[in-house]
Amino acid sequence: MQPGEVPADGDVEASLRPRSLTEFVGQVRVREQLELVLSGAKLRGTPPDHILLAGPPGLGKTSLSMIIAAELGASLRLTSGPALERAGDLAAILSNLVEGDVLFIDEIHRIARPAEEMLYLAMEDFRVDVMVGKGPGATSIPLEIAPFTLVGATTRSGQLTSPLRDRFGFTAHMEFYTAAELTRVITRSATILEVDLRPDGATEIAGRSRGTPRIANRLLRRVRDYAQVRADGAITREVARAALAVYDVDVLGLDRLDRSVLTALCASFGGGPVGLTTLAVAVGEEASTVEEVCEPFLVRVGMLARTRQGRVATPAAWEHLGLTPRPGSPA
Ligand code: ATP
Repeated sequence: MQPGEVPADGDVEASLRPRSLTEFVGQVRVREQLELVLSGAKLRGTPPDHILLAGPPGLGKTSLSMIIAAELGASLRLTSGPALERAGDLAAILSNLVEGDVLFIDEIHRIARPAEEMLYLAMEDFRVDVMVGKGPGATSIPLEIAPFTLVGATTRSGQLTSPLRDRFGFTAHMEFYTAAELTRVITRSATILEVDLRPDGATEIAGRSRGTPRIANRLLRRVRDYAQVRADGAITREVARAALAVYDVDVLGLDRLDRSVLTALCASFGGGPVGLTTLAVAVGEEASTVEEVCEPFLVRVGMLARTRQGRVATPAAWEHLGLTPRPGSPA
């Protein structure tokens, strides 16, 4: 991009990505572990073990995979589990790898079984067996592939089969970020975007970002719009509060969907227990969205419990919604 050109929102997202482990805010434990894995490999001059990045969406898994490749001075190839429907899709990617490449597979828990089985051999022996022909005459031809490092990302590590999980030498468990860490993320982003962000404005946005850098950066961009259109451009606490009210983001960072889930749970199902699918239908969303996007945060802030019988609203949920629990409800 030329100096002075204004980037589109998608490019902005890319421009905000941290480029090195030192720029990567928070995840202190993961950073330390990863630093060791990468330094050890560099010292030996061999590709590091395969790495699994596990955790909720938006915590920086894609950014981290790019950093891993950059720290190793390697090229990064990106694909995703759903794109690998047939073993041939994966074979094409694997056979094009150059020694030391980092192959990033996002949503690796969604990889199709034949591709997954091909991956076992590739991860372990840097070899794939390509099937030629069909029926009784089919033969498998072994094909050497260049030694590479697989970086898998998953929001559902429990869904990985154990043969696949066991082939990763290191699993990074990504945690939600603290408000202080998110304040640093937003302050860094504001500098890149040349936004006049005041410390109290940064704290206000961080507190409503649900522990997630992607949300923090998104809220910053929306508050920037408000500050430029309806104020003098500076993001103060008051401006942030007014802007986030427009976007339906409440003081705890719950958005419209989170509140719909809690409201359905309390008002329609008496606080639960109710099954995930029923709850998702009630709010008109995919079960996976409710489970992966809303629930981790609602569980974390102590408003929703996942029990064997189903989802249950806690007393904090009733209180946050300003509702009184019905007699006999789990709250
Ligand atoms: P998903 O799995 O949903 O794609 P993700 O975990 O891969 O999400 P990223 O796309 O890497 O998340 O990160 C989202 C945005 O958050 C990035 O644009 C980046 O700017 C920012 N971000 C994430 N983690 C950090 C961090 N530790 N420090 C600074 N910025 C971060």
